[in-house]
Amino acid sequence: DPSQAWTEVDEYLVQTLLPEDEVLELVVDENPAAGLPAIDVSPLQGALLSLLVRMTGARRVLEIGTLGGFSTIHLARALPPGGRVVTCEYEPRHAEVARRNLDRAGFSEVVDVRVGAALDTLPQLQAEGGDPFDLVFIDADKPNNPHYLEWALRLTRPGSVIVGDNVVRGGRVVDEASTDPVVTGTRSFLEALGEDPRLEVTALQTVGSKGWDGFALALVR
Ligand code: SAM
Repeated sequence: DPSQAWTEVDEYLVQTLLPEDEVLELVVDENPAAGLPAIDVSPLQGALLSLLVRMTGARRVLEIGTLGGFSTIHLARALPPGGRVVTCEYEPRHAEVARRNLDRAGFSEVVDVRVGAALDTLPQLQAEGGDPFDLVFIDADKPNNPHYLEWALRLTRPGSVIVGDNVVRGGRVVDEASTDPVVTGTRSFLEALGEDPRLEVTALQTVGSKGWDGFALALVR
């Protein structure tokens, strides 16, 4: 079973590369206890999100899909002073757990959790007319990913970065005949990324403790 080796390597890399992190360990323990599914990014992927924020110097980050705030904490902790994360979550219960976790991690003043369907809260954000986002992390309901990409483009500027999670789905993404909206939504998302002249893109397959999946990365030209 190759996935066992992937998990072992992930554990080795976490131990070797990442500092002990009591706050995040608490989040990982508490989310299942609060009934949340364990579909947050892995610790190494979270560290990648932090690095992307730092490498790009992002000050304003938009996340679509908060869950318990595990990825949100990684994004928030990488911000410079005065930075902000706006994170959109449909399930009030997930948002409540996330707010508690963010509070405990010391980021309640930095993170704005918007509860509701993202296709309702994203237009509100646009109507509020804030500065463009420097980085967008798309990690919610995958069938809506093509719409989230359009919203990401409306809410960013040239030089902004857009990251999409779960674009490989254990290889199911190549199943042209699939009628699963998760697969068709992911394929439409990737096709839109590939066709859009406003974007420079790639996607990377990943293996590890979260199985076989991948990230899409885009730079707004
Ligand atoms: N980004 C999180 C992390 O890594 O810790 C994981 C997010 S989880 C994969 C997806 C989340 O998107 C779930 O909490 C789900 O309730 C939320 N979601 C589903 N449909 C949504 C929608 N229409 N608008 C906003 N959030 C939605």
